[in-house]
Amino acid sequence: MSLPTPPNIDPAKLADFHNVLKQSKRIVAVLGAGISASSGLATFRGTNGLWRGQDVMQVATPAGFRHDPGLVWQFYSYRRREALKAQPNAAHYALAELARRVAPGFVTLTQNVDNLSPRAGHPEAQLKQLHGNLFDLRCVDTVGCGYTERGNYENPLTPALDTIKDETLTLGHIDPDNRPKANPILLAGLARKNAQILGDKYDDKGPSAVDLAPLKAAAAVGGEQELGARPPPMSDIRLSSGLSKDDLPQCPKCQANILRPSVVWFGEALAESTALEADALFAEDTEPIELCLVIGTSSKVWPAAGYAEKARKKGARIATINMDAGDAKGLRPDQDWVFVGDAAAILPELLKPVIGDPGAWKKSTDS
Ligand SMILES: [Zn+2]
Repeated sequence: MSLPTPPNIDPAKLADFHNVLKQSKRIVAVLGAGISASSGLATFRGTNGLWRGQDVMQVATPAGFRHDPGLVWQFYSYRRREALKAQPNAAHYALAELARRVAPGFVTLTQNVDNLSPRAGHPEAQLKQLHGNLFDLRCVDTVGCGYTERGNYENPLTPALDTIKDETLTLGHIDPDNRPKANPILLAGLARKNAQILGDKYDDKGPSAVDLAPLKAAAAVGGEQELGARPPPMSDIRLSSGLSKDDLPQCPKCQANILRPSVVWFGEALAESTALEADALFAEDTEPIELCLVIGTSSKVWPAAGYAEKARKKGARIATINMDAGDAKGLRPDQDWVFVGDAAAILPELLKPVIGDPGAWKKSTDS
């Protein structure tokens, strides 16, 4: 693991953060796709939310899977391969070390499915993978069969899913003035999720089509990972995988159905157990939370906004670490911190009073 150049952080702001960190007994971190960007994983923002010229939202929905499971599996096969090639970065390792040092008072809630936090040695009991994991699979017949499989790293999963063969198709382009607009079903889904998380704090007027119109802002809203654009109607699907069900991973238990990635698709609810575990962190009868770290995602949109708000109710100050300063507007200037830049450079500096110099924790993770 190579460490990036230390960032340029305002010393007064850093000292203030360090003071709070050192006194914090309960800390929550919320991770988005931005933390994995310096590991080389696409956030799909850079590709305008396209994969093979296809809106990635289209291949990360139950409707997309019903329409063409082969296409969805090609997308996930591509992402599994990319995630296997990527390495955890200093931000993942620093959080893993924080988890060991502050155990059990530090918990990470991640929206990422790339498996990089587990690979950095983040203690499992202190890591809630809200949107599942690319390397977990399950039978499409959740009720009747219920087969699940964790940590399947086989790549490709079937010969037909060998994505290296059609590498050139991988990423597409779109005219930025001609991006798809938010659709009403999506907006309703987002509103429900916001209501679920924010409870009575939820303002039922939002998020509105107006809020979501600039798709840059909408990029960080919900779904299995931060994705870059809205789904056009299913009839707009231009690609077909040409794969039949026999080409796709088969359920070894019922031998009648195919498997699907065990991730939370856009429009699906979080796994109940995961949602309950996450909520339990903020329950009324628990100790206060002193600090909430929002990393690589906007603290203004679901789900980070919901969890940051819940942490705030428990007394937490919020630190946002993101490449985009605009994502943090609306925070309390006297209470919250915004650190702009690469989390892999910033987090080791921020957490140093507790986790020590990188030399100390690098050793325990490189072996
Ligand atoms: Zn099955």
